[in-house]
Amino acid sequence: MMFLKKHTLAIKLIVMNIILFVATFHTIMTFNEIKQKELSFYIRSKVNLIYDELHSFTQYYINSENVFIEKGIHHFNSVGVVNPEPKEIRKFSDQLNLLSLKLKDLVNDDYWTLAVIDKDQKDILYCLPLRVAHIKDLYEYDLDLLGEIAKRNNIPKTYEEYLKSTRLKLTLPYKEKFSHEQIRSIILPIYIKNNMSALLILDVKCGILKNWVSEFNNSQWTIYSTSKGTYYKQLLDLELRYLNNGETLPIYLNYIDIIKFSLLISFLISTSLFSLYKLLSNILNLIQLDSMTKCFRRDYGEKKFKNKLISNKSIFIFDIDHFKKINDTHGHDVGDQVIRTAAAIIKSNIRKSEQLYRWGGEEFVVILNITDPNIVLKKAEQLRQAIEGQTELDINFTISIGCTLAHNMTLDESIKIADQALYTAKNNGRNKVVVK
Ligand code: GH3
Ligand code: MG
Ligand code: MG
Repeated sequence: MMFLKKHTLAIKLIVMNIILFVATFHTIMTFNEIKQKELSFYIRSKVNLIYDELHSFTQYYINSENVFIEKGIHHFNSVGVVNPEPKEIRKFSDQLNLLSLKLKDLVNDDYWTLAVIDKDQKDILYCLPLRVAHIKDLYEYDLDLLGEIAKRNNIPKTYEEYLKSTRLKLTLPYKEKFSHEQIRSIILPIYIKNNMSALLILDVKCGILKNWVSEFNNSQWTIYSTSKGTYYKQLLDLELRYLNNGETLPIYLNYIDIIKFSLLISFLISTSLFSLYKLLSNILNLIQLDSMTKCFRRDYGEKKFKNKLISNKSIFIFDIDHFKKINDTHGHDVGDQVIRTAAAIIKSNIRKSEQLYRWGGEEFVVILNITDPNIVLKKAEQLRQAIEGQTELDINFTISIGCTLAHNMTLDESIKIADQALYTAKNNGRNKVVVK
């Protein structure tokens, strides 16, 4: 029986886990499908914020004062300036520093360099921070770095044309010389009187799009991926229209990830339900059990069997013999000890599915799954002898047991009959079993 019970519990747990798994799998899929639009909006707004910050700098650029500097490499307030000939240059290092701080807030660790290439006979380069690769680039293109970059990225020469094109340009990933960092550049041209005057360039690490997707995942509990994996479903092909020339960012859901999460979540839910169940049953036990003997309490038993007919059970009622004398001779504490020991011995001699109730001070009721009268007598004898022969306490004590078979009767009725049998057992000299 116990074996079967354990198995049905395991089967129930497995079925519950399977149902939870399927439900979680579907919920995760649906949730991620619903959130697609938000992801698209999230990335678009990131780009818009970068655009707004870069764009706000153009005013400073146009209105900046000039300052004369010698040919060479200079540093103004951490901005590296490469000036190919002695001349007046624009003075905006404070604003460039401020802009770089704001951009770092937006792109975090993906920030690499912020640069301004100022068009002149020989272009002037402002970089934050300045790297060797930048200086090399400037000289490599015969000091026309701006022309070279504008050509490579199809940046309109006039403001009129620019208004018809995309606002920001995002280059494909490339490896920067010397640092070997894989980067992409976000380019915003600056125009004065309809002519291109400078390029404002933000170099970012090329994992930035992937990182934005991760950021979104972390804040929105989604599990989008930018790489395919083995088993996947493609959700989005995010157009980067607002940035570039037809490049897209595909977004996938990897089934392996969903299975992993579903397993984890269904396991967590089932274990918490199981712990809750355990906790509740412990609380129930506290309500049901007598604190001294840990047997069920009489009021619990009476409530449980109220208006119910009992069948195929045997009811034992036992009472410790001459207990007043034990109390009188050894004291109340030892008396308590005797009651506890009697309860523990009886409990260890009956099955888990059978119940022991403390019915009065030193009087107990046992409900057993026995239907054969011969076995009833045998079992009662076994219990009586177990108490008589106990060695846990130094004091010897005995019990008298009255038994009856209950078939189609209430607990109250069966206890009354068992009580009469107990009365007979007491009258017969105690330490006796009587079945009625
Ligand atoms: P009998 O053989 O006829 O049963 O004699 P008895 O002395 O055992 O008589 P009875 O069953 O009437 O005695 C019950 C006594 O048990 C009365 C009460 O003082 C004592 N008793 C009841 N509850 C407790 C308890 O929780 N602890 C202790 N130490 N004694 C208790
Ligand atoms: Mg007694
Ligand atoms: Mg009594």
